[in-house]
Amino acid sequence: MHPLCEMCLKEGKSTLVEEIHHILPLSEGGNHEENNLMSLCKSCHEKIHRDRGDR
Ligand SMILES: [Zn+2]
Ligand SMILES: [Zn+2]
Repeated sequence: MHPLCEMCLKEGKSTLVEEIHHILPLSEGGNHEENNLMSLCKSCHEKIHRDRGDR
């Protein structure tokens, strides 16, 4: 697993991973395989869910 936030890395920032995001939520049939997981910092994780319309 990546030690740094994947979304911050794309912007050239190095932020330590604080949360693990499930690309396909467990409630929608997602699993714990590495290709369904993203390592994110808290603010990127919140942004992803806002963009999804989760909250
Ligand atoms: Zn981030
Ligand atoms: Zn998430």
